[in-house]
Parts: sequence; structure tokens; C-alpha cells
Amino acid sequence: MFKTRYDENTIRIKRKGVADRLVKESVNIKSTRITKISNGDLQILFRYYDQIFFDNWFENNFKGKFEFSLSRRMTRSAGITMCPKNISSLNPEQVKIEIRMGIDFFFKYDQLDGSKVVCGIETRNSLEALQIVFEHEICHAIEFIIHNKSNCHADRFKKLSNNLFGHTDSHHKMPTNRQIACAKFGINVGDKVDFIYDGKRINGIISGINKRAAVMVRNTKGAFVDKLGNRYVKYYVPVNCVQKPENPAK
Ligand SMILES: [Zn+2]
Repeated sequence: MFKTRYDENTIRIKRKGVADRLVKESVNIKSTRITKISNGDLQILFRYYDQIFFDNWFENNFKGKFEFSLSRRMTRSAGITMCPKNISSLNPEQVKIEIRMGIDFFFKYDQLDGSKVVCGIETRNSLEALQIVFEHEICHAIEFIIHNKSNCHADRFKKLSNNLFGHTDSHHKMPTNRQIACAKFGINVGDKVDFIYDGKRINGIISGINKRAAVMVRNTKGAFVDKLGNRYVKYYVPVNCVQKPENPAK
């Protein structure tokens, strides 16, 4: 079954077929732009991948259970697949594989212009991006089921994901919070910034950007110490509330 190799055109048609059915059946996803999504949508997505790409191989052969979940806290990777460490010693019925998708990537898809390449494929909309990340996770699931382990940096995985889905890379390159903050607010890690806290203007240096910017502020009582022995307190500040000083002190 997993020796199948689809050509580029077939993959495109099948992927579109999955998308069309999802949009038709889902109450949340009504176009190629994702603004709402539920676990159930991933379930639907999986069912149509199984039908359209795998001729119901999972349905007919996998005795275990699939679970799908969503996370708003995943910040680097847009999907993960989890399976029990002791999978090789379990009865097939006991195996539970969970695919979890980090949904912020897809909600924010349109916030940045420019090309968004996912697993080596140029995507045109957030639904397509979601599908390709999901395809990557399906390949992990296949490896877990057949080989009991999975590694997307190894050749076996690369071949599998290329044959089935035309992927040429294991990484999504969708905009991260950090890239969005950089493009929209002109801030980046290492920048000197100031912000208002308790009515006072405070300045510090950005040490990280996630949903908020982490700003290190000099303070003799701070818990963080740099190489020079300076102490800092870390503040988490919404990215739209930090400002770069007009004439940054060098
Ligand atoms: Zn992977």
C-alpha cells in the first residue's frame, strides 16, 4: 500500500477533492480560509484522506484508535503526532495515535504576505497549508503503525512523504509569531525597546517573541543574571505595546 507513488497532478486533484469534501461537511470551515476549526474537522479530514489517498487502508487495517486535537500553544511546529513509546509491545487494539495541530499558524496565515512554503510546497491559502501539515503527520502515523517509530529527517520518511504527497521538505515555513511581530511592528529579538508599566516608562531588551515579547529590564533585584553580572527582571509585554526609542541609545 505505501509503495504507492502518485504523480504531481494526481496529488493536486486528490488534495483538492479532500478540501472540497471537508468544506462541504464541516460546520466551521466553509472556504479555503480557516477562521474556526474543531477536533471534529480533523476527524473529517482524516476520513477523506483515508478514502481518497489510501483506499480506506486505515479504516480496514488499523485496529487501534486515532485521536485528534488542537493546540493554541504550539509555536514552532504546526503539527505533531504522538504514539505510545511501547507501541511494539501493545496489542494492535491498544494502540492510540494522536495528531495534534497548532492552529495559530493557520489563523494567522493571511497576516503576512509573501510565499508560504509548507513541506516544500508553495501554498495558496490556510486550508491548503493545514492539509499539507496534516499530510506530514499522516506519514508519521504510517511509520508508527508499520515500523513502530518515525523520523521525518530520515530517508524512509522523506521517500514516503514524497511518493504519497509530493513533499520535498519536512519543515513548514509559515510565519511564526516572531516573524509577524517583526513585519508588523518592526521589532525583533535583541532590540532595545520601551513600554509603559504601572504608568511608568520602562526600557529593556527583547529576549524572545512569542505571543508576547519577553523584555529584560535591568533591576538589581532581578532573578536573571547576564555574563557581566547585571541583573534583570523579565516582563511579558504585548507586541503592540513595545516601542523602539526614537533615538536608541547605543
Ligand atoms: Zn515531522
